[in-house]
Amino acid sequence: MKSLKIQFLAAEADPLIKVGGLGDVAGSLPGVLRGLPESPDVRVFLPFYPPLKDQAHHYEPVAGIEIPHQDGPILAQAFFSEIRGIPFYFIDGEPIAASPQVYSGDNQQDGTKFTFFSLAALELAKILGWKPDILHAQDWHTAPAVYDLHLVRTNDPFFQDTRSLLTVHNLPYLGHGAEGALHAFGLPRAHLSPLPDWAEGLPLPLGLLAADKINTVSSGYAEEMLTPAFGAGLESFLRTRVKDLSGILNGLDLETWNPENDPALPVNYGPGTITARSENKRLLQEELGLEIDPRLPLLAMINRMDYQKGVDLVPEALRMISGLEWQAVILGTGDPTLEDAARQLDLESPRVKTILKFDSSLAHRIYGGSDLILIPSRYEPCGLTQMIGMRYGCVPLARSTGGLKDTIRDYHAGTSRNSTGFLFEDADSSSLAMAIRRALEVFSDQRRWRGLQRRGLQQDFSWEKSAEKYLALYRDLTGAHQD
Ligand code: ADP
Repeated sequence: MKSLKIQFLAAEADPLIKVGGLGDVAGSLPGVLRGLPESPDVRVFLPFYPPLKDQAHHYEPVAGIEIPHQDGPILAQAFFSEIRGIPFYFIDGEPIAASPQVYSGDNQQDGTKFTFFSLAALELAKILGWKPDILHAQDWHTAPAVYDLHLVRTNDPFFQDTRSLLTVHNLPYLGHGAEGALHAFGLPRAHLSPLPDWAEGLPLPLGLLAADKINTVSSGYAEEMLTPAFGAGLESFLRTRVKDLSGILNGLDLETWNPENDPALPVNYGPGTITARSENKRLLQEELGLEIDPRLPLLAMINRMDYQKGVDLVPEALRMISGLEWQAVILGTGDPTLEDAARQLDLESPRVKTILKFDSSLAHRIYGGSDLILIPSRYEPCGLTQMIGMRYGCVPLARSTGGLKDTIRDYHAGTSRNSTGFLFEDADSSSLAMAIRRALEVFSDQRRWRGLQRRGLQQDFSWEKSAEKYLALYRDLTGAHQD
């Protein structure tokens, strides 16, 4: 069988640049795919964000490309670098240089940046004479490439055989505000399509309309997306595409996330040495200025401060259980109102520490030293924090939705022997508070708690199984075409 060529487009990829879970996925899946016995030729395409230029990689210029725009062509400069054995192509140009952050918060600006990037990445493949079998795009940022491919491939022999896969990491981010950018780069609105009218000019819906296959990052979310509560208004449209829609659970980068040799942890440990993590807890309590006491359950939250994540439920829930013994650490950054609420809780109580920044190293120490990680998401396509938590013996307590429901087995009477965490149903503070109460009860019996931790540590969250599924999907796409 010939080795497949996969053009992998993403807005972020760890360790080069990461904002959230998409960065984790784009930073690990391509490498795992390349390592499979069939060794597909996966190449990653990223915008050349200004901070990347300061990193110590050798960036080799490979091409200059003119991207048509209504105000005149814009020059894209492409660079190549092999990083951790993976070929990376970087696209530079005025729209990318103009915005130093991955996401500026202004979708008009980001729409220009990502549409420019998406079109330039396709053109680059052509210049390289590297015909991708699969264009694999992620989320709204690179969905314009999928739409453009669909528009050009009937008349462009180069892309005639290229099939597309669009992975949805976060459905409600449709790319509102980017409509004008698509138009300016010559990508028309859809017309009389199965999409709702209001979505016919938006990048993610257009990508979902044009993609040969669609997937999302857990089976649970693939089902939820078809319902009004989770479908972001696209549920009826998505139901028309159900035979092309699947869910593939994200894996974890087990090298980055390995408590046995994680350099960010003061003490390393594994399934047989969980008790050693108590020293990490002690040092974490000390670092955070919390009372140093191994018996006090240390609750953690590491999150984007976003309504999606149910961050607003936490302060209220913790106030509801103020009569119980616990401590809490909150690490996150994002929405100023949610940040304020977390800061307020810290001011109210010496047993809460709120750190409002993005700090990878501290995140590792929190996973390695806290007892319970709170993940009260309103929706969660996959979620990585629960998997990282389990791998680090930091037991997850999460809302029963999407990928959280698919990866955590709830602790309750009868099933406690294979449980790995705590799940609760309703997105409100009292349900969260009740679940924390349940968890604290179990924590008070250290034998039962160790069981939970051990089972979590033994879960297999490796990428291999999921990467095999992606490969099967790629094969399916190319095979379907050859029929
Ligand atoms: P999402 O992609 O929706 O933000 P995920 O759970 O898939 O959520 O991934 C979040 C990733 O970002 C995890 O690796 C988590 O540890 C990390 N993370 C989130 N907030 C912070 C922060 N403030 N500092 C360090 N790491 C963070």
